[in-house]
Amino acid sequence: MIDLKQYEVWFVTGSQHLYGPKTLEQVAEHSKEIAAALSASKHFPIQVVFKPVLTTPNAISELCLEANSAKNCIGLITWMHTFSPAKMWIAGLTMLKKPFVHLHTQYNREIPWDEIDMDFMNLNQAAHGDREFGFIGSRLRLERKVVVGYWQDDEVQRELGVWARAASAWADWQGAKVARFGDNMRDVAVTEGDKVQAQIQFGYDVYGYGVGDLVRAVNDTSNAETNQMMQAYLDEYDVAAVLRLGGERNPSLREGARIEVGMRNFLASGNFKAFTTTFEDLHGLAQLPGLAVQRLMRDGYGFGAEGDWKTSALVRAMKVMAAGLPGGVSFMEDYTYHFSANGDKVLGAHMLEICESIAKPGAKPKLDILPLSIGGKADPLRLIFDANTGPAIGASIMDMGQRFRMVANIVDVVPTDQPLPKLPVARALWLPRPNLKTAAAAWIYAGGAHHTSFSYAVTAEHLHDFAEMAGIEFILIDEKTRVHEFVEKLRWNDLYYHLFKGI
Ligand code: MN
Repeated sequence: MIDLKQYEVWFVTGSQHLYGPKTLEQVAEHSKEIAAALSASKHFPIQVVFKPVLTTPNAISELCLEANSAKNCIGLITWMHTFSPAKMWIAGLTMLKKPFVHLHTQYNREIPWDEIDMDFMNLNQAAHGDREFGFIGSRLRLERKVVVGYWQDDEVQRELGVWARAASAWADWQGAKVARFGDNMRDVAVTEGDKVQAQIQFGYDVYGYGVGDLVRAVNDTSNAETNQMMQAYLDEYDVAAVLRLGGERNPSLREGARIEVGMRNFLASGNFKAFTTTFEDLHGLAQLPGLAVQRLMRDGYGFGAEGDWKTSALVRAMKVMAAGLPGGVSFMEDYTYHFSANGDKVLGAHMLEICESIAKPGAKPKLDILPLSIGGKADPLRLIFDANTGPAIGASIMDMGQRFRMVANIVDVVPTDQPLPKLPVARALWLPRPNLKTAAAAWIYAGGAHHTSFSYAVTAEHLHDFAEMAGIEFILIDEKTRVHEFVEKLRWNDLYYHLFKGI
């Protein structure tokens, strides 16, 4: 359900008429070549489209308005091959509603020492042309990414590709719908927030439904759909014997399949990209949806438990950023600790809802039915597996009252010290960077949630670019974090974001 191919980014070059038509033709040719190279780069998940060179304020404004209304355009790459007087950009950039990245590069890699003359100098003058453009971006206080280096270099293409993934997720959020089945878990604070402000700032809308609306969709499922879903379970998973055809719990497998079909039909017919559930509101549903949620996440839906719509939307955004990359993205919760001399670890899991996209490759997840100690419903189906190992990131967005904050922690997922034969849920064990003592203290000072969106594919750089597009604070906990400096940074950021509204 996530297709980045629908998106494109526009390659926009600024210049002026001073140089005459011959130079402008060369500028256009060079720009076409760079746009094509970026489009073909392995780092670019989407098409890069060359746009005619801009030389007047009118042309710039028209291009920016066109970008605003072009549904598949997720943003602009801007570059000043020659000098483009930046007052020409004020009207256009002020109107531009899409993100942009400023590529500070030069068509020619090296100075041709023997041949360089003033014609060469006048063509290859991004060194100062881009500074003029940079000034107006800063003068207008515009959020943008600046990428510096030679356009053929792998690192430059990688940085632009990261930005394009973040911009794709940002485009995906605009007009997105999140369905909430039931409200928030009662008394829980961090999963709450201002949905109106979220829509103003992030572009997605949160729709509330009574769980009865979902129950109707479950009751409307056909036998054919349910049988097909049960067959998919048998094909894809290591299904417990009691759940198989003829097993004593086989009716529960059927019930779980009906719930998944009903949820899929509901979400598809309403064109939703993410959803939440809550175990406190399940009237009419036989089981808390576990397996269904795991499989819907695998297919690209965002999810948050206990009514957590902010994490649900973030899981969806990170799924878009990660589309086509190895790794995965899941809803996650810091569940329990392992304090030990070999490094303090976090066991991450949830009651049921961990996405199989983060499972250790090669092993079929186990599909089982086991009691759930809370919720007071029938035993739910769930997939049980160990998560993949390696570096990962956990991120959450909190409503701090006046504004939103995103906090993230880089972690290293490791094998469990021993098998966990009695643990009935999917799980990941990790060492937070720099260590649990620092990471957990910093996380708690930042007010970070217990729920996160957890990924092996998304990096801090993706999240940073994304937070800049959203205009929210991004604060990272990694190997360089020191608690006291971190707390100081939180305080300064509080001041900055308070003042920023007025400047
Ligand atoms: Mn939870």
